[in-house]
Amino acid sequence: MQFIDLAAQQARIRPEIDRRINAVLAHGKYIMGPEIGELEEKLAGYTNMRHAITVSSGTDALVIALMALEIGPGDEVITSPFSFIATAEAITLVGATPVFVDIDPATYNIDPQRIEPAITENTRAIMPVSLYGQCADYDTINEIAARHALPVIEDGAQSLGATHNGRPSCGLTTIGCTSFFPSKPLGGYGDGGACFTNDETLAQRMREIRVHGQERRYHHTRIGVNGRLDTLQAAILLAKFDIFPDEIERRQQVAAAYTRLINEQTDGAITPPHIAAGNTSAYAQYTIRIQRRDAVQRALNEAGIPTAVHYPVPLHHQPVFGLAESGNLEASSKAASEVLSLPMHPYMQESNAAQVVDAACTAANRITA
Ligand SMILES: *Cc1c(COP(=O)(O)O)cnc(C)c1O
Repeated sequence: MQFIDLAAQQARIRPEIDRRINAVLAHGKYIMGPEIGELEEKLAGYTNMRHAITVSSGTDALVIALMALEIGPGDEVITSPFSFIATAEAITLVGATPVFVDIDPATYNIDPQRIEPAITENTRAIMPVSLYGQCADYDTINEIAARHALPVIEDGAQSLGATHNGRPSCGLTTIGCTSFFPSKPLGGYGDGGACFTNDETLAQRMREIRVHGQERRYHHTRIGVNGRLDTLQAAILLAKFDIFPDEIERRQQVAAAYTRLINEQTDGAITPPHIAAGNTSAYAQYTIRIQRRDAVQRALNEAGIPTAVHYPVPLHHQPVFGLAESGNLEASSKAASEVLSLPMHPYMQESNAAQVVDAACTAANRITA
């Protein structure tokens, strides 16, 4: 069994991928070729945003968003400590300070109730993460942000394809950011990402920052980065984009099967994901919570079932941030020791899900007995 099956997806669309790659090889515009604009138009339409700006990675999307908001030294950005390092890394890279606010233990996303007490006179933005494919509570977060005139950046690296109260992830906040890393819901064959906004000024800045702060050729109005998406990656993403909505539906079907099987077969030993009312998840990961996680993971590994832990060390415990236990990030610390991501991809069969749940139940009953 595979954790993610990219080969099955490739087999489905290989002719279209070949056609798209060959078109790029024929026109030869490897940097900012026509596929970039075509993809940006489709992404903007998909997220209901006026502007989609493709960039070189999800991490660069976050950095470029922060740079466009002119966030830097002395500034604080409120974020979640239960994420991939890139979230807090981007804040630190622009010279600002990440301020960690604990998660809601049910959804693993930042707890909106804890945001307001963390706002200081130095706070310049709120950057929640839509973890595992489920949006944070942006309706509440946007209200809090509006009260304090703060922009909100969604780290939607895992959640493109999800919705929050009927609106699409990456289309919910001042700037949305996503990643096209191969294992993300919309993944290329290399690194890539995108920023989304409705704000004309921010869109213009992000377009310039992605090309060395260049307003027009060899005229640089600000410090930027080399942050473009390759034309070849855009071509591959265009081929994948055609089947993306269907793949999200398939992920949701696999997740529904998992959750039903878990609820039938365990009496609470395994906690399935909780999708909040008003949300649909893109299920970048199907992540359960379980006691004695490491032992269960070992048992599953022995049974030939690959799993992963997203993420074993919360960001406030990473040596690079060097923060002592601040005492109020306990839900994140606890989640880091209990979460386990099961195999998840659009081409999984219900029989595969049943096999995984059987093995997980057997392991959980044996280990926790
Ligand atoms: C993958 C990921 C990123 C970084 O994206 P890259 O394209 O790998 O740079 C940022 N945040 C989260 C939550 C991610 O999962």
